[in-house]
Amino acid sequence: MRSLAWLSRLMPDEYVASIYDIDLDALWRRGIRLILTDLDNTLVPWNHPDVPTELAAWLRDVNARGFHVCILSNNGEDRVGAFSKLCGIPAVSAAGKPKSRGFLQALRRFEMPPEAAAMIGDQLFTDIQGAKRLGMYAILVLPQHSVEWWGTKISRMAERVVLRRLEARGLRRPQVDSDRRRGND
Ligand SMILES: [Mg+2]
Repeated sequence: MRSLAWLSRLMPDEYVASIYDIDLDALWRRGIRLILTDLDNTLVPWNHPDVPTELAAWLRDVNARGFHVCILSNNGEDRVGAFSKLCGIPAVSAAGKPKSRGFLQALRRFEMPPEAAAMIGDQLFTDIQGAKRLGMYAILVLPQHSVEWWGTKISRMAERVVLRRLEARGLRRPQVDSDRRRGND
């Protein structure tokens, strides 16, 4: 039974193809007021410098609905700060996910309890594990692109094994709607 306990700590509350598939009405009804989001391969492909039009529109929609949004990334300040400035969204860089420090820093900034926050990310061992540890709602998305940092490529191997076990426990891999996958250009 022990193995099931560690596995459940990695189980996302939702698994969707991309941020654009998240039901924002449902998040609001759930009491979520702060959206924390990973950057690379969640909002845009890894190290992608620009803000795609579709992402800018999504961020406007999220803000108009009354959510606070904050980028929470393990990438460095150069990369994260530049992107944050470009899209006008605050960010915590070098967050050290899955450690709690960066998550707590973001929660403090918006004076929100973890129950009022949702974390969106493409990696189980950083984004999802860190969020679940604090009792946050956790949303896993498919990586936006197959190009990744070498460290991520290694953790993906272990992640694939865990994802299979989570799928055996009911996690459903989202169908990719090809019209919606626009991050690859
Ligand atoms: Mg990522």
